[in-house]
Amino acid sequence: MRDFDVIVVGAGNAALAAANSAREAGADRVVVLEKAPEAERGGNTHFSGGLLRIAYGASRALEPLLPDVEARLPGFFDNVEPYTEEDFMSDLRRVTSDRTDPTLARILIGNSYETIRWMHETAGVPMEAAVSLAGIRVGNRVKFQKGAIVRARQEGVGLSRRWFAHTEENGIEVRYATGALSLIRDRRGRVVGVEARTPTGIEELSARAVILACGGFEANAQWRAQYLGAPWDHAKVRGSAHNQGDGLRMALEAGALPRGQWSGRHSTPISNEWPDFADRKRTDKSNRLSYPFGVMLNRAGRRFVDEGEDLGFYTYAKYGGEILRQPGSLAWQIFDQKTIHLLEPRYRTSDPITSDTLRGLVAQLDIDDQVQALRTLDAYNESACGAAGFDPTVLDGLATTGVEPPKSNWALRLDAPPFVAYSATGGITFTFGGLAIDEDARVLGTDWRPMPGLHTCGEMVGGLFHFNYPGGTGLVSGAVFGRIAGRTAARDAARV
Ligand SMILES: Cc1cc2nc3c(=O)[nH]c(=O)nc-3n(C[C@H](O)[C@H](O)[C@H](O)COP(=O)(O)OP(=O)(O)OC[C@H]3O[C@@H](n4cnc5c(N)ncnc54)[C@H](O)[C@@H]3O)c2cc1C
Repeated sequence: MRDFDVIVVGAGNAALAAANSAREAGADRVVVLEKAPEAERGGNTHFSGGLLRIAYGASRALEPLLPDVEARLPGFFDNVEPYTEEDFMSDLRRVTSDRTDPTLARILIGNSYETIRWMHETAGVPMEAAVSLAGIRVGNRVKFQKGAIVRARQEGVGLSRRWFAHTEENGIEVRYATGALSLIRDRRGRVVGVEARTPTGIEELSARAVILACGGFEANAQWRAQYLGAPWDHAKVRGSAHNQGDGLRMALEAGALPRGQWSGRHSTPISNEWPDFADRKRTDKSNRLSYPFGVMLNRAGRRFVDEGEDLGFYTYAKYGGEILRQPGSLAWQIFDQKTIHLLEPRYRTSDPITSDTLRGLVAQLDIDDQVQALRTLDAYNESACGAAGFDPTVLDGLATTGVEPPKSNWALRLDAPPFVAYSATGGITFTFGGLAIDEDARVLGTDWRPMPGLHTCGEMVGGLFHFNYPGGTGLVSGAVFGRIAGRTAARDAARV
C-alpha cells in the first residue's frame, strides 16, 4: 500500500491547482509538500500581482468573473476590447520571437478562459479588474491593455490564501517545511515517491503518481551564474527565496528531458533600493514599469533601450535584464510633469529625486558621467515631440528622430519641471528553462517517452517562454497545466 495516491511537490498556484484537480478527478489521498515553513508558504504566487491573461471573445464573457465591475467602473464592458485566442497567440509568438512551443501555446491559450472560470467557480478565487496594473485613466474612463484585464482580488496574496483555503476544504494535507530531495523509482522505472527533508529528518513518501510543481531556479545564485551567466548571480530576487531548482535537478537526475530557453528568464525593472530577496509584505511593489513615459539613463549618462518600443507589458520582462547589464546594474528613470500622473501607484514605495532643472536633477543622481547625461537629455529633447497626438493607451507613434537608441512611441520632450527621477535595477522573477512535457503534462525522458508516474506544471514547464513574456501569463500557465497534471496524475494513479 502506497502512502498516497498523488504527491504534489510545491505549494504555489500550479501545485495547488494540480492538487485540487487531482482530488476532483478522484484521487483520494493527495498530499502537498511545501519546502517553506508555513509563514513563507506559497512561492512566487504569493508575491505576484495576480494578473491573469486570458483569451475571450466579447468583453461580456468577463462578466461571470467580474459581476459587479460596472458599479466601480461604469461602462467597463463597452471600454474593454475583445482578446481572442488569435490575439493571445500572436502576442505570445511575437514576444518570444516565434520560439514558443506551438503545442503548449495552443493548450495554454485554448484553456485559459475556462481554467480561470474553474478557479473562480470551483476554488472561489475572487477576481477584480486590474485597474492599477493595466488600466490607464483617460478622462472619466479607464482603458485597459488588451488581454490584461482580470486579476485575483488582493493580487497574489489573495490568490494564494484562497488556494490554501480551498485545499483545506478539499481535505488535502499540506506538509510544511518538507522539501523534496529526490525521486524514488521502482525497478521498472516508474516514479513511486519522493525522499524529503522534514523537520524531523529524512523521510521516504510513496505514491502512485508525483507532480513536480516547485518552481524554477531564480533564487539559486549558482544556477543563475551557470545557466544565465554574469551578472545574473547578482540579480535581486523578486519572489520566493525557496525556488532553488530542486524539482528540475531531481527530474534531470532521474532522466528527464530539459526543454526551453535555459539561458532565459523573466526579469523586470525594480527599485534599486530593494533588498536582495523580496519583502513578503510589499510583494511586487518594487516594480518600476512606467519607463515608456520617460527616459532611462545608465551610469555612463547614456540611454540604452527604446523605452517606447512597445506597450509596457510587452517589454517589461526583458528590460530588467537590459538594466542589469548596464554599469553597476543601475538606471535612472526620468519623468516630467506631463507624464508624472501616469506612473503606476507602485512608484509611491520610493521617494523620488526632484529638481526644477535637468542639470539640478542629474547633479543628484549616481551617474559617473554627468556631462554626458546632460548631453543625452539635450539630444533626446531635440529629437522628441510636443504633446499633440500623445496617447498613453496605444502605440501613438510619437517617435524621436535621429537619436540612438530611438524612442518609438510616447517620445515627449522633457520640458515641464519639476523633473523627477527614480532608481531602477533588474530583478529576476522566474527562469524559462524547464522540462519537456506531453499534452497531458507528463514529463518526457531523454528518450522522448513519458516517464511513468511523473508530471509537472508551472514554472517547471519548459518551452513556452523565450527571451520575453506577455504579462499575466505565468499564473494562467500554472493553472492550466496544473489542472491538466492533476487530472492525468489521478487517472494514472487509478491504474497502478
Ligand atoms: C513579484 C512577482 C510578480 C508577479 N506577477 C505576476 C502576475 O501578475 N501575473 C502572472 O501571471 N505572473 C506573475 N508572476 C509570475 C508568477 O508568480 C509565477 O509564474 C507563478 O507564481 C509560478 O507558479 P508556480 O506554482 O510554478 O511556482 P511558485 O508559485 O513559485 O511555487 C513554487 C513552490 O514550490 C516550493 N518548493 C520549492 N522547492 C521545493 C522542494 N524541494 N520541495 C517542496 N516544495 C518546494 C516553493 O516553496 C513554492 O511553494 C509574478 C512573479 C513575481 C515574483
